[in-house]
Amino acid sequence: MDFSFSEENEMIRDNTRKFLEKNLLPYVNDIDKNEKIPVDFFKNAGKNGIISPLIDNSFGGPGLSFIDSTVISEEIAKIDTSMATSVYYLLNTSWAYILQKYGNEELKGKILPEIASGDKFIGIASTEPSGGSDVANIKTSGEIKNHNLIINGEKTYISGAIEAKNNGGGHLTLVKTDASSGHRGITMVYVPADSPGISINKLENMGRMGISTSSITYNNVEIPEENIIGEINKGFYYSMDGFNHARILVAAACNGLSDMMLESGLNYINQRKAFNKYLKDFQGISFKFSELKTDLEMVKLLTYKAAYLADVDSNDLYIYSAMAKYRAPQIALEIVKNVMMWFGAYGYTKDAGIEKSARGIFSYLVGAEGALNVMEIIVSRAFMK
Ligand SMILES: Cc1cc2nc3c(=O)[nH]c(=O)nc-3n(C[C@H](O)[C@H](O)[C@H](O)COP(=O)(O)OP(=O)(O)OC[C@H]3O[C@@H](n4cnc5c(N)ncnc54)[C@H](O)[C@@H]3O)c2cc1C
Repeated sequence: MDFSFSEENEMIRDNTRKFLEKNLLPYVNDIDKNEKIPVDFFKNAGKNGIISPLIDNSFGGPGLSFIDSTVISEEIAKIDTSMATSVYYLLNTSWAYILQKYGNEELKGKILPEIASGDKFIGIASTEPSGGSDVANIKTSGEIKNHNLIINGEKTYISGAIEAKNNGGGHLTLVKTDASSGHRGITMVYVPADSPGISINKLENMGRMGISTSSITYNNVEIPEENIIGEINKGFYYSMDGFNHARILVAAACNGLSDMMLESGLNYINQRKAFNKYLKDFQGISFKFSELKTDLEMVKLLTYKAAYLADVDSNDLYIYSAMAKYRAPQIALEIVKNVMMWFGAYGYTKDAGIEKSARGIFSYLVGAEGALNVMEIIVSRAFMK
């Protein structure tokens, strides 16, 4: 067993960090305030191969591994600790991967190069007003007529719809093509955000302000059948494959954020004094630091194990990605909470830059990429057959 990163992994980490320090760090406060990531960032990130790294060379991407993608996810969250840029990245990475794995050559040739270059966004539209956890019970319908799929219904809490509409792109969308067949009646289709018949309604979120969350209504939206991903009625399985990969990048983003927070907490307790002692010299603080550092190390190992399983296409991937997605946001929130307390009143100010991380992490506790209870269902079912 070898726990070290390869030279290539390390090189990618260094290059990503240097790129982000120059191209993202100067904008991070504005991203949370102005609710927008600069469009130029995506284009520059595309040129540097870090906007959707799993896309193959043949489609204009860098063709990196899943471990590399996990390294990049961590580094992005260390710089933009609001989580917004991490979300944009993880959606573009995991759903482009699904398009590449199951889509037809024509669609891949049309869409993937523009995602790899940072010109277009790709996300997932699965959740509906009646619920997100029970994917099999979606209601949005897809009817095949004259080589088109006619879509009617509503999706909600969809990340990146405004960005896709304004900058270009769309969502892999789940529609019911056989209403009587539960999860075996769902088809996945690429729906450009500017398709006639689509209306987008932005929801006001509490965090990760740089990327929008919206409801999307489909009123007789006609999508050519070439945009269907893989086989009709297999969309549920493709979406689960996508979530299994996306959850690793969620966990990695939480870990990157946790790393950054713990480092800034450590700097603070090393220099702040109370009762004539440094904060680090109170056991109540140093023991908590040890506990959090250990938790973070554990979940990082779990996350990289999941990334390794993705690279070797293991059947166990779904279990480990669910475990990582289950623990990483909880540990991140615990770290953010404690670091905020170490900072005292300053931690509660916007200037300290801690509160936006708490707002961002909550998205992963309540649901984004699957609610925590659903992760517990996946893990328990895997062992309690
Ligand atoms: C910021 C944000 C961005 C999002 N972006 C997207 C996106 O881009 N695309 C997309 O499709 N969706 C997106 N979502 C939606 C997300 O996928 C859903 O929130 C998630 O699937 C849960 O669905 P729900 O919110 O409808 O909760 P529900 O499914 O209604 O669940 C409510 C609660 O009940 C619990 N629960 C449900 N079933 C069970 C059970 N069997 N046993 C025990 N507990 C259970 C859940 O854990 C949860 O706590 C986003 C969500 C957020 C918060």
